[in-house]
Amino acid sequence: MGSVHLIKNATVVSVDKSIGTVPNCDVLIEDGVIKAVGPNLKYSSSPNIIDGTNAIVSPGFIDTHRHTWQTQLRSIGSDYVLSDYILNLRQIYGASYSVHDAYLGNLCGALDSIDNGITYLIDHCHVINSPEHADAVIKGLQEAKIRATFCYAMYANPHWEGSCIDKQREQQTPDWRLQDTVRIAKKYFQSGKDDDLIRMGFALSEPDLTPVDRLVQEIDHARHIGCKVITGHFNFGKWDPGNCIVRQLGQRGLLERDILLSHGNTLRDDELEIVAKHGCGISSTPDTELQMGMSHPVAFKAKDRGCSASLGVDVCCSAPADIFAQMRLLLQAQRHLEHEAQDKAPLEMSRSCQEILEIATIGGAKAVGLENLIGSITPGKRADLLITRCDAPRLVPAHDPVGTLVLYANGSDIDTVMINGEIVKSGGKLTNVDWPKLREELRTSVTNIMERSKKVPMEEVAATRDYMVKVLDVINQRRKANSA
Ligand SMILES: [Zn+2]
Repeated sequence: MGSVHLIKNATVVSVDKSIGTVPNCDVLIEDGVIKAVGPNLKYSSSPNIIDGTNAIVSPGFIDTHRHTWQTQLRSIGSDYVLSDYILNLRQIYGASYSVHDAYLGNLCGALDSIDNGITYLIDHCHVINSPEHADAVIKGLQEAKIRATFCYAMYANPHWEGSCIDKQREQQTPDWRLQDTVRIAKKYFQSGKDDDLIRMGFALSEPDLTPVDRLVQEIDHARHIGCKVITGHFNFGKWDPGNCIVRQLGQRGLLERDILLSHGNTLRDDELEIVAKHGCGISSTPDTELQMGMSHPVAFKAKDRGCSASLGVDVCCSAPADIFAQMRLLLQAQRHLEHEAQDKAPLEMSRSCQEILEIATIGGAKAVGLENLIGSITPGKRADLLITRCDAPRLVPAHDPVGTLVLYANGSDIDTVMINGEIVKSGGKLTNVDWPKLREELRTSVTNIMERSKKVPMEEVAATRDYMVKVLDVINQRRKANSA
């Protein structure tokens, strides 16, 4: 028999409707699987006993949209709108990432996620400047021991003198990324099982700006090579040209459970209906959407219509890898929106903490097709879970355990993180890493990226900005014409 853990006498916030929230409850974990949940569990072997007194056990958070590689750019976009982001991250910094930078970005980004209780993430990886970058970012995820779906993105960072882009390769074989996905699928993802810790996914060329025939080709290709999740950035506010690409994909019969729409703020009612009908996932990213002018997050609206709505951190250049923060921000923004829509002062609350916690856990699992495996504290599911100690001044007392998680707790309150039954954070510290050493390596990588990025020709950046202003004008006209 492998490892056996018994968490004793905790408050279990199961997010499983048939179990609910149970005080003084035990959780038994064997060989990476939750075996039993209930008070005073009996056990025959001698398990590793973890005291759960004054602690909450809850499912790990599921982050369904993240550009993990951007770790080295933390806080650089604190005051960005989306056009600043596109110009800086995708024209300058992305092209400045070497293979080693990409590896460190993904490793440290995934560790940051684990530290904050994220046990699964969708890595929408658009820093693949060379085939070696693809190998490096996968290695980063593997070493972090997070559960993830690595989504190989088709996005090409631009070449400039001093960047990490091979000009010849981009010019002679502009579609090399699409071909390289075949190599990656064979090399790392042959098993193709749902319970593989890292699965293969695909990130489409920008759907709102790409001809639909090309998207069809990419989706067919991704399915052919066995990708489990196909994701992309869809319909974000005033960047939405109004060509209803989700409706078009639906008409072509391409919407299936493997499609995960990031953002989708301005999806039409009929599009939400077909998204729900086909079981596609939606990832709302409250921090970036509210900050960067992408319109109000669609998660609650989509959930009300039967869609699998979930949460994502998106970019860590302007937001922490922190689902507590995303839950809190979206819940209160949604409550505000719904209170404001009423004539009179509200006499009852529109949205509960339980509802947003479900979106952040089991909702995420549904959005990526893994609800039978993760997303709740349910016997038979894999043990991806958190133990949050309610000992800090801000967490005493904890009358309402769900409210405590949603409105009060943060990553530093998480004592233990388990992924697939393996303890990856314990006593408030990451277990598998020499962080002080890795931190210095990361700082050197930051210096190298910043040095390289200084070589970007500023006239090209200015030209791109002018071009973007024109594109936005065209999008605006199209959207108005399409809605007329
Ligand atoms: Zn994104």
